[in-house]
Amino acid sequence: MDLATLSLSVLKGAGPKLRDKLSRLGLRTVQDVLFHLPLRYQDRTHITPIGAIAPGQEALVVGQIELADVAFRRRRTLIVRVADGTGSLILRFFHFNSAQQENFARGRKAKLFGEVRAGPGGLEMVHPEYELSDDHMVVAPDAHLTPVYPTTEGVHQLGLRKLTDQALDRYLGAIHEWLPAELLAPLKLPTLQEALAFVHRPPPGAPVDALLAARHPAQQRLAFEEMLAFHLSLKRLRARMRRHSAPVLVGAGSLYTRFLASLPFTPTGAQQRVLAEIGRDLRMPHPMQRLVQGDVGSGKTLVAAGACLAAIDAGWQAAVMAPTELLAEQHWRNFAHWLAPLGLQVAFLTGSLPAKTRRAMVADVSEGRASLVIGTHALFQEDVQFHRLGLIVVDEQHRFGVHQRLQLREKGAADGLVPHQLIMTATPIPRTLAQSFYADLDVSVIDELPPGRKPVDTVVIPDARRPEVVTRVRDACLTGRQAYWVCPLIEESENLELQTATQTAEALAGALPELRIALVHGRMKAAEKERIMAAFKAGSVHLLVATTVIEVGVDVPNASLMIIENAERLGLSQLHQLRGRVGRGGAQSTCVLLYQSPLSTAARERLAAVRETNDGFEIARRDLDMRGPGEVLGTRQTGDQQFHIADLVRDQALLPKIEEAAALLLEKYPAHVEPIIARWLGRRESYGEV
Ligand code: ADP
Ligand code: MG
Repeated sequence: MDLATLSLSVLKGAGPKLRDKLSRLGLRTVQDVLFHLPLRYQDRTHITPIGAIAPGQEALVVGQIELADVAFRRRRTLIVRVADGTGSLILRFFHFNSAQQENFARGRKAKLFGEVRAGPGGLEMVHPEYELSDDHMVVAPDAHLTPVYPTTEGVHQLGLRKLTDQALDRYLGAIHEWLPAELLAPLKLPTLQEALAFVHRPPPGAPVDALLAARHPAQQRLAFEEMLAFHLSLKRLRARMRRHSAPVLVGAGSLYTRFLASLPFTPTGAQQRVLAEIGRDLRMPHPMQRLVQGDVGSGKTLVAAGACLAAIDAGWQAAVMAPTELLAEQHWRNFAHWLAPLGLQVAFLTGSLPAKTRRAMVADVSEGRASLVIGTHALFQEDVQFHRLGLIVVDEQHRFGVHQRLQLREKGAADGLVPHQLIMTATPIPRTLAQSFYADLDVSVIDELPPGRKPVDTVVIPDARRPEVVTRVRDACLTGRQAYWVCPLIEESENLELQTATQTAEALAGALPELRIALVHGRMKAAEKERIMAAFKAGSVHLLVATTVIEVGVDVPNASLMIIENAERLGLSQLHQLRGRVGRGGAQSTCVLLYQSPLSTAARERLAAVRETNDGFEIARRDLDMRGPGEVLGTRQTGDQQFHIADLVRDQALLPKIEEAAALLLEKYPAHVEPIIARWLGRRESYGEV
């Protein structure tokens, strides 16, 4: 019996309707059900005295019913009061029938589980789960933790529990163990069957704290296999890429030498080292897959330019893809400025170009007149044919998903040759994590900032002191400096963001009549944005009010003051990115984080972290701790790989062992690799299918 193909229709209750809903959760087979793991647990293993419960907490409470009444306020509500001698608690039900109402008879005993919240007249629970019994009966807490499964509309926890019960009873014995004993034994982890049984139905007496923290060996066993599956899929992808051929990019190197001679500075040691690593890759007959991690302002653009020139020198084209039009335009201006003196043509492609310009650009690219193409993802639309594309550079990779990265690999392939790929990111992650999360890539690190940089001074100020900040902007701008004023997304709506930015710009213009103020946002026409950015760069605009479109890449060294409104709403890495727009010139720069009171604890921690350190690696580490890898690496936003049970940060101690395990499997048990990947990544995503 192969559980990987056995339809879950063999389980009782799994009729066509439910199966349809389950398939939305990716559940189609019995194996899928067994690997649909609890998201978390509810702890009903001890009774909390009402006097000891607090808002926000989930608690099991046992008390006596003192009163049950139907109130008619905005809506018909059943209100029940229970007490246990240490305090009393209100229950609210908005949906109930008369039988339910009668059940809550005064004097009966109620066993309740739910989230406690602060209500108008004290603590309450809304629609708690409950069991009622007569007063003399003994009410015992549960013997084990209650699993809570990821679910979807119309599928209830109880239904999922019934399905898992059956799958565990009838089929667990048939689940295949793909990890050989020689691998498992030294890790001292339980077998797959033991682990699955334990995680789905923790037995009485199982250590509650360890399970709630997902640090129990049974959970670690599954997390290990899941991370291994992910790692193997990336390794397989890497192996497949290695089988492709790529152009061997060997040139005289004279373009790069001439380019360097035209720069007002010399590359840092770190830039030179990374360029040398890239150069070695480009001379190989298979595609480079290299990630460059470097803090904001570490000079990744220069490294990108060096790589492009190597490709062009060898007679091939290069493409640079940026995540926003604004950044693409800036790159275009920079690269055109650098490359024109070398007699090279740079094309520009974004979604918002006028049709005629676009046609001309596309022709320059396909007929090979343009050596370099800069653009947004519009670069890789159907009608864009490259003449001889040898290298793709993806800037600010965290804005693109793994999917998009993989799609690129198919693009531009000509004569059976696949272009080299260079990926840049300003969200550096620790080495071991990078080796797992980017196992299909080689990783280079620019671990040095250009000389003479002074760390940005960061201050945190409540919005009530805004007038002081406005004065500070005036003083800075009147002494020849320039400033940004960023208005981030307040609601989940670009329109509203735009509205606040517009209003802020108007208010600032009113308060600072002596300054030239401009507004830039994502909805503007490309030409308009470009005109404003050029004016700011040229120094004819003092203060640039912007939405978060300026978050990545924008480089105006004379700007030395950055104001970020509603800073409490932004993530750590995003704040660091925005702050990175200043501190690029010789002047001492300041970043003002304006916040709306009161601050939540999490927001307070974030703002403190940004104030305390300017080091992007440290910021990324703290961000990973605070928000977890799904947010930091962008997988949540882009819909990429989400783990069922593993957490790359929490479980990082396992990572080195995963590399060893992957090597062992690939060498001695290659037939086990596919089934492990299929079991965990299943239909959702298989990174190998490229
Ligand atoms: P990022 O890594 O954030 O993309 P940029 O490439 O935009 O950084 O570079 C930031 C600034 O530093 C730019 O103004 C750039 O010209 C300058 N820069 C880059 N490399 C050097 C260097 N080796 N010495 C001095 N300045 C440099
Ligand atoms: Mg950059």
